[in-house]
Amino acid sequence: MSKRTIKIYGVLFLTWLATVSAVARPERPDPVSYVNTLVGTASTYELSTGNTYPAVAVPWGADFWTPQTGSNGDGWTYRYDATHIRGLKQTHQPSPWINDYGAFSLMPVTTGPVYDQDARASWFSHKAEVATPYYYSVYLADHDVTAELTPTSHAAAFRLTYPEGQSYLVVDAFEGGKVSLVDAYTIRGYTVHNHGGVADGFRNWFIVRSDTPFEACPAREDVALVGFRTVRGQQVNLQVASSFISAEQAERNLLEVTGGFEVVRNAARDEWNALLGRIEVTDGNLDNLRTFYSCLYRCLLFPRDLSEINEAGERVHYSPHNGRIEKGYFFTDTGFWDTFRSLFPLLNLVYPETSARVQAGLVNDFRESGFLPEWASPGHRGCMVGNNSASVVADAFLKGIPCQDIDELWEAVTHGAHAVHPRVSSSGRLGWQYYDSLGYVPCDVGINESAARTLEYAYDDWCIWQLGQALGKTEEELAPYRHAALNYRNLYDSEFRLMNGRKADGRFSRPFSPLKWGGDFTEGNSLHYTWSVFHDVEGLIGLMGGPETFAAQLDTVFQMPPKYDDSYYGRPIHEIIEMTVMGMGNYAHGNQPIQHMLYLYDWCSQPWKTQARVREVMGKFYGPWADGYCGDEDNGQTSAWYVFSALGFYPVCPGSGEYALGSPLFEKAVLHLPGGDVHIEAPGNAEEKVYVEKLRLNGRVWQHNYIRHDDLLHGAKLRFTLSDKPSFLRGTRPEDRPYSLSR
Ligand code: CA
Repeated sequence: MSKRTIKIYGVLFLTWLATVSAVARPERPDPVSYVNTLVGTASTYELSTGNTYPAVAVPWGADFWTPQTGSNGDGWTYRYDATHIRGLKQTHQPSPWINDYGAFSLMPVTTGPVYDQDARASWFSHKAEVATPYYYSVYLADHDVTAELTPTSHAAAFRLTYPEGQSYLVVDAFEGGKVSLVDAYTIRGYTVHNHGGVADGFRNWFIVRSDTPFEACPAREDVALVGFRTVRGQQVNLQVASSFISAEQAERNLLEVTGGFEVVRNAARDEWNALLGRIEVTDGNLDNLRTFYSCLYRCLLFPRDLSEINEAGERVHYSPHNGRIEKGYFFTDTGFWDTFRSLFPLLNLVYPETSARVQAGLVNDFRESGFLPEWASPGHRGCMVGNNSASVVADAFLKGIPCQDIDELWEAVTHGAHAVHPRVSSSGRLGWQYYDSLGYVPCDVGINESAARTLEYAYDDWCIWQLGQALGKTEEELAPYRHAALNYRNLYDSEFRLMNGRKADGRFSRPFSPLKWGGDFTEGNSLHYTWSVFHDVEGLIGLMGGPETFAAQLDTVFQMPPKYDDSYYGRPIHEIIEMTVMGMGNYAHGNQPIQHMLYLYDWCSQPWKTQARVREVMGKFYGPWADGYCGDEDNGQTSAWYVFSALGFYPVCPGSGEYALGSPLFEKAVLHLPGGDVHIEAPGNAEEKVYVEKLRLNGRVWQHNYIRHDDLLHGAKLRFTLSDKPSFLRGTRPEDRPYSLSR
């Protein structure tokens, strides 16, 4: 054969290969096509089925967009049962309870020169709405306008299709903001809308540039109204950008969308597919696939990256701590109380490059404010308890996430363990003086939720100890943390075999009700919080009198009726109602403190109970529809629980380098990790086959109830044999139990 012939045959072969491959491998739908962004939007103040809004964004984007059904300032910004949309809002809201900042909105109008948020609102239907992570479209019936938008990190492209006649566009800068028409094509303004966590002088500058000339119409200082004549079907294209730094930077950020609507939309879709596609799931159950990817989408939104690229090409950010422009990354809009549990471990496993940026951002938090955040939006916010930034730092470092300035983070976590932020008492450790001297925060010294604080501080001390060991700190420096990691013992009330508040004089709180929410605990009761000994379950088992008693105590939570004592709050808070309606006794999956508890049977030789319960919770409490969560989703945490659990394991103790085993939901899942693919297979998996009969790790029988992070890092194969009957032999030896400090 001549060279030329070989070449021709070569081309033919490649063509054949392409054809055969296309036939043999049916086109897989894009992972993003499984995502329903409306999951969790059927929520109210009284009952949360997620308390989410359909965020249109790129992963970890600086700005999100959402259709707005609630009035300006209402935390329930989009409700599934709402009938009217009053704007398409740029939002940074992490939760309705924290509310929004930097918000402004756009609204096309054709019913006359109206701009008031009630007057301009329009009927809409979910049937004429397309809601995806990267693109949103809605038909605004009152105005006969189809509004479309697609985002980048700091900008968005809008396409508004108008009817015949006199048309308008409203730009609403919210109360206190300013907006004006600069020329026929350009609107500029800023919003000062916020609920705290910002420095004085905070502004979100924005710019709207149109391809159609506008005429200014009379409106208010904080609302712009512009008019233009349109023919039926005329499309008005807008480029919208914003910046927390300056008006000039907002204009620079416009460059992100100069390619036009389709270019922006395709890029955003590709980015979602690339990231969601790192976990590839094969299963016959379409609902489960949709639930899984809808959850994974939520895991890739928060914390948002607030940094921007300046004129010199440097990455800089507005610091909410000092109001200055500082260098480097800045991540925000997350509460570590929620998200240390499994959201950050998920990022550390599957998205390590993002984790590295988050750690770099934490260094900046410390430099700019003297503390790591515990609840950030965008700066320190007073919310929840614990000092769980230590877990977020330690888990990342121990899993090999690179951090240039780890010495500064060491300084940050050790400083925060013995200090409290002067203005925001949830950053650092409120009650640290008591904790350091007594070994617990007493319940009678005017510090609320003292038992919850103590239990989390003890785990956080263990995290600091682990981190210090990895950094080669001296025994002398580390001994206090190693010792304090056992402080959970100080709250164990042996009379009830549960954790309880304790007074400064050493006596336990009386009368004690395991059903009492709040008080010594945080948004939960003792039945929920007793298990917050992530790092030493074995130690807790010892306190309770052995594995059998421990297992019986776990069982009690499910067996008890959903009774509650709401005297601390004076009313049943939504988390209480969410527990009562689930039909699982006192198990409250709708809130975070108990979410790891199902996995604790792995520590007491009854792993089949973990396996059955996690499958039950995945099946009952999650779904791909508007009421698809069983309580606040909370910035990826409740979603990350599902993502991990569906894969068959869960990071009960971030920092330990282990995952506790559950029961995988799918027949096949592949994690595309930088170090290699992890294949998780459960051939013949079915709804009733929830029990693990056998597990092979890389071909070898694996008896333990855990797998190590290191076992997954460079690729692995987990092959589960599942059964509809429990195996009372597998995972029942003491050596099969996951990590505990006391072992
Ligand atoms: Ca919560």
